[in-house]
Amino acid sequence: MFEKISKNDSNYRKLLDNLSNENISDEEKKVLKLLKLLYDEGALDNYPNTEVTDFLTCHIDKNKKIFQNIKVKKFWERYRSRIERYNVVANINFCPACGITFYPQFGYHKTLEHIFPKSFYHQLVIYPDNLVYYCEHCNKCKGDKFDYLNIYHPYFTILEKYDDEIILRIRKENNGKIDYQIKISRSAPKEVRDLFNNMFGIAGKYRDYILQFLNSEISTLEVIFGDSLRKIENKEEQLELMKSYLEQLYSVDVDRNPFCITTTERTIMQKLDEVIHSNIGLVAEYFINEMKV
Ligand SMILES: [Zn+2]
Repeated sequence: MFEKISKNDSNYRKLLDNLSNENISDEEKKVLKLLKLLYDEGALDNYPNTEVTDFLTCHIDKNKKIFQNIKVKKFWERYRSRIERYNVVANINFCPACGITFYPQFGYHKTLEHIFPKSFYHQLVIYPDNLVYYCEHCNKCKGDKFDYLNIYHPYFTILEKYDDEIILRIRKENNGKIDYQIKISRSAPKEVRDLFNNMFGIAGKYRDYILQFLNSEISTLEVIFGDSLRKIENKEEQLELMKSYLEQLYSVDVDRNPFCITTTERTIMQKLDEVIHSNIGLVAEYFINEMKV
């Protein structure tokens, strides 16, 4: 999580020229002209352009005057695909905020995120350095939240690694449901905990990732064990069979698992493997319930 990624070496002026040459409305022409003017006047020169360790702080004045007769959101809806066509945004296969790969089969699609929100910073609406691919979850959670004194910007912020601070637990809730809980340890700096909890709500994403992974494991178990488990009527005996399988044969193989590509994913899966092996009874119960045998 909170990875540093390399931005594309894109030419913003050329992008604006290319977009202006397309068949566009008078209102769009006016907007692109204003964006060019601001760029040529150096209004974006304050945008971070160096790598910084720790969190980024930089001040850029808000500008809510470029879009008048056309809404910034409407403009963005029309221009998002055009921007993608010009390949000016770093193409990555995982979300830099949560560190999870974009798995379409889990519904984890990549979406373009504005680091400085487009609703306050009109001048940056299609500025490539301000655009990063995030997963839908992180993009939605972040929304317009922004504090220019404390910015995580995947192109410029270099954070220490905090994957090891992830705490994973399985427990039985009061209603008897077995659930997975994810937290980040209090030994991580407050800024990192704020990003994890408030800015991106990453625990929710990790919980979903674990459940998606376990669902795919359960489908496999269903094939191997479904019939034998259905033949056993006694619930206790079913549990015993599942427990002995988990104890003796089951492991989350981080080297061969197709959902284990990034370092964050490897860490989560290692922790999941530990949790499974130190809570065999609960996990067996969870698997049997989910298999509905
Ligand atoms: Zn994400």
